[in-house]
Amino acid sequence: MSEEITHPTIVDGWFREISDTMWPGQAMTLKVEKVLHHEKSKYQDVLIFKSTDYGNVLVLDNAIQVTERDEFSYQEMIAHLALNSHPNPKKVLVIGGGDGGVLREIVKHESVEEAILCDIDEAVIRLSKQYLPNMAASYNHPKVKVHVGDGFQFLRDYQNTFDVIITDSSDPEGPAESLFQKPYFELLNDALTERGVITTQGESFWCHLPIIKKVKQSCREVFPVVEYAWTSIPTYPSGMIGFMVCCKDKNANVKKPLRSIPPEEEEKQYKYYSKAIHEASFVLPTWVAKELK
Ligand code: SAM
Repeated sequence: MSEEITHPTIVDGWFREISDTMWPGQAMTLKVEKVLHHEKSKYQDVLIFKSTDYGNVLVLDNAIQVTERDEFSYQEMIAHLALNSHPNPKKVLVIGGGDGGVLREIVKHESVEEAILCDIDEAVIRLSKQYLPNMAASYNHPKVKVHVGDGFQFLRDYQNTFDVIITDSSDPEGPAESLFQKPYFELLNDALTERGVITTQGESFWCHLPIIKKVKQSCREVFPVVEYAWTSIPTYPSGMIGFMVCCKDKNANVKKPLRSIPPEEEEKQYKYYSKAIHEASFVLPTWVAKELK
């Protein structure tokens, strides 16, 4: 019988996502069936457990990254909001995304010739292959290339190269801090081709409106088109997460997909995304729309 793995976030058989800085006074808890793995990588504390009702769960520095049960909501939206806002995406880059879920969505687009992923932490990639197979299977796709390194540094070497860049990062505490600041958005802009589109992990408007406002302001100083969309996802703080969606083409309207597939095809390709929900996801609660104006 292997030694039971313990972790400070797991008490009385429940994982508790407590953060006094990122979501003070509230916490998502998930019932744990079995702790599968724990290690301190070069960059983060990596915990993986099998939950009773949400499948396997990846936790980095005590924050839920993905659960097998609801990851499709986030992965599909952050990928297809961007890809369907580009007329013919061929070369796509993911910064972060080490679980492989966004890559899985990108290769659904026939036009894509190359999908490159740059994640800072080899441990996330290695462990996702072992414990998150329905996301990390994407690493075997012939169009996929993987680079282990800091996304901020990686982008310095690319100008006018990528049609779409998706920043699927952890929160701005820890290694992803630089990915929420203006210099990063300038690097993205330089690395994009002329009609390039980006999406970023855009936090929760219930918990992080100041961060979202700051990111939107930084994006507005770099991109002519900047919009904020959101999706429902039970295991992220307050049950939702947003996306900044930006485009280099000043005439673009990212709120309406340039490309879409018939509803019967959508049911085969997606579990969450659809043309209708693409458009609906940019509709914000009154106070949020006002704050982000
Ligand atoms: N969907 C999740 C969310 O919204 O919180 C994020 C999932 S993904 C696991 C987050 C990834 O960002 C991690 O694998 C982490 O290693 C990576 N990451 C953090 N900082 C990074 C950086 N500076 N460059 C590249 N990858 C980074």
